[in-house]
Amino acid sequence: MLFVIIHKHTAEMCPAGVVRINKDWLKEVTNSFKNAKIKYLGGYANSPNHEFFFIIEADDLEEIDNAIEPLRRVGKVRIIPVLKFEEIELLASGRAQLLTE
Ligand SMILES: [Zn+2]
Repeated sequence: MLFVIIHKHTAEMCPAGVVRINKDWLKEVTNSFKNAKIKYLGGYANSPNHEFFFIIEADDLEEIDNAIEPLRRVGKVRIIPVLKFEEIELLASGRAQLLTE
């Protein structure tokens, strides 16, 4: 299954900030995604908002938990199951076909 992981931390908790500096945090996040049994598809950041977005493929929720552990330590994490847009399009066209039959 595909998931979007959304992580947000406050400026006070920011590992790159001045209150709780942790220069190794980005490396920990990278290693955590590498070591978990998930497929990492991409990561994006909105730095001024302290928000990160990751796209992963995983079958096991426990492995997702392992992957996002460094994120949970500094802020909130949302795990959202998603479909590829193309799959939605196919589902919608299939449904449209059923309606016309
Ligand atoms: Zn930050």
